[in-house]
Amino acid sequence: MSVSSRDALRAALMYGGLSLLWLLSTDYLLTSYFDGSEQLTRWQRMNGYIWVLFSAVMIFLVRARLFRFLGDGADLKRQREDQERLRQAGAVFDCTREGVLVSDRSGVIVHVNRALVEITGYTPEEVLGRRPSMFKSGRHGPEFYQAVFKSLQDHGDWHGEIWNRRKSGEIYPQWQTVRAITDAKGQVSHYVAVFSDISAIKKSQTDLVRLAHHDPLTDLPNRLLFTDRAEQALAFSRRHNCGCALLLIDLDHFKIINDSLGHNVGDLLLKAVGDRLQSVFGKNFTVARLGGDEFAVLAESCAQVAQAVVMAQQVLELMKGAFEVDKHPLFVSASIGISVFPGDALNAEQLLRNADSALFKAKSAGREGYALYTEELTTHAQYRVEVASDLRRALERHELRVFYQPVHDLSTSRLIGVEALVRWEHPQRGLLAPGEFIPVAERTGLIAEIDAWVLEQACLQMKQWQSSGIHLSFVAVNISSRLFTRPELYTLVSTVLTDTGLDPALLELEVTESAVMEDSHVALEQMHRLRALGLRLAIDDFGTGFSSLLRLKQLPVQKLKIDQGFVAGLPEDNDDAAIVRAVIALAQSMGLQVHAEGIEQVEQAQFLLDFNCDLGQGYWFGRPMPAKELDWQRAPAIRP
Ligand code: C2E
Ligand code: MG
Ligand code: MG
Repeated sequence: MSVSSRDALRAALMYGGLSLLWLLSTDYLLTSYFDGSEQLTRWQRMNGYIWVLFSAVMIFLVRARLFRFLGDGADLKRQREDQERLRQAGAVFDCTREGVLVSDRSGVIVHVNRALVEITGYTPEEVLGRRPSMFKSGRHGPEFYQAVFKSLQDHGDWHGEIWNRRKSGEIYPQWQTVRAITDAKGQVSHYVAVFSDISAIKKSQTDLVRLAHHDPLTDLPNRLLFTDRAEQALAFSRRHNCGCALLLIDLDHFKIINDSLGHNVGDLLLKAVGDRLQSVFGKNFTVARLGGDEFAVLAESCAQVAQAVVMAQQVLELMKGAFEVDKHPLFVSASIGISVFPGDALNAEQLLRNADSALFKAKSAGREGYALYTEELTTHAQYRVEVASDLRRALERHELRVFYQPVHDLSTSRLIGVEALVRWEHPQRGLLAPGEFIPVAERTGLIAEIDAWVLEQACLQMKQWQSSGIHLSFVAVNISSRLFTRPELYTLVSTVLTDTGLDPALLELEVTESAVMEDSHVALEQMHRLRALGLRLAIDDFGTGFSSLLRLKQLPVQKLKIDQGFVAGLPEDNDDAAIVRAVIALAQSMGLQVHAEGIEQVEQAQFLLDFNCDLGQGYWFGRPMPAKELDWQRAPAIRP
């Protein structure tokens, strides 16, 4: 019997009982009220009973209808609630970002949601009726799927990472949960799989790993990864008894590009250099950017040093072509330090350090070249340490000397000035040229004391000449580029000028092109302050550095000294001749004096005179010599 009919019977019995009770009690009341009065006729009593009975039946019927109505209402409400619950479940099913797939117990897909369609790229029609194996990526072996089924069998569920394939063919990772659904008898009726596409998370994880090991600008391995690769290469070389080589590449004067053209252009150039390096070195090579403008190439199974040298030459050649940056052709050269395993180092760190020493050697040798790290270099380093301590003593023991080299006016041949050049009278080794100790002095900081001493000596000497009636236009003193940007220089120069009483107009300070071109603001400020003292400024070795004409225009200099390297080729070498002519024209157009050094032959002097070079200096006029040996009258004839 259903619940509602049981309710109706209970209600009918209860109502029938109550009606009977009411009927009997009404009869009793009527009987006792009219008892003995004979006022109540039998007919009236009958009427009363019939009325009571009728109203009882009517009430019963109304109540029964009401019950049925109320029962129906409850059923309807329950149905509506069920429908609402289903609608909500459907909405969740469809709105969830996770893909949902329902298959029957035999694995046939019976239901999928909208997210599945979006993630996989298949329409519901393409999926329904088929099996989940249609999404297989081929990345997992049979044992993987066996483990999934076993977990479903034993525990009723499985979750984990799985790689599947989209309709487009792309494979991607999912995080998936599968659950077996059982019926009332506990038999599996369906399987529900819920999954999310974790390819974005995976990608950011891989990106993070990549970022830790790669330089974001060039996408080349960074120092961390490079060192790791070098360790591996060394281990391999040790096992297979073969060598490997490391090339440390540093761009020359890159800072100038950054300062003059901006960091964006600098970045683009670095990227282009990285691309170019990578394009020539294929498998068995690792090209990395170690930071700034420093790149490195690791060559595995590089048996001989000669092979590494060939590679270095290849890199130098490679850099010669213009780099198209921001639609502008840019030129940049490089210096390379080479260190090889097992000859120069026994571990990666040592290999890098030694390549760095070799790089320093290459830079000191004038850039755009390569240098090897060899035992010889180590010996050289030891020698440098000895020289440094000797040099300290030399200053105390007054072993330094100032030599003066004459400078002639090319049009009159007359000696009009001198350049002060330092010498070291070494007690054992004899007279040493600056090339033997200036680089050491620069590295140890002793250069400040040396330059200060030479400056003072030169000013005193000039004063002495003046008082003995020898009137020169200038005495030129070299200032190290290491010192040039330091604030102490200004104090030093002004103190020396005051102490010696020399007319500042007779003093000329020579600075190298790199010192004034590289450090933008500081060098410029220093030059203006020095100029304000009333002295003259000259750019030494002009043409060997990396000059920007824009920068040159801003510099408060009065003279360009053409480097002797260009003079050496005169007059035959067409390139040198063209460069010298161009520098003379440039200096004249900018209102600067032009001075050629290293004149060893009369033909060179003639060429320079023909092209209106103002001043000349070189062995042909006179070598550097002690002050008292200078011949003031000497004016060798340039024209026959
Ligand atoms: P620099 O300033 O360019 O000086 C010219 C150098 O060329 C001198 O070399 C000079 O002897 C040499 N020279 C001159 N004429 C000829 C020639 O006809 N043929 C050849 N082959 N060479 C010639 P030095 O005296 O050996 O000086 C070398 C460099 O050392 C100088 O180049 C200068 O940069 C530096 N130096 C010299 N004295 C000082 C100093 O007191 N302080 C600093 N910081 N540097 C100095
Ligand atoms: Mg000089
Ligand atoms: Mg010079």
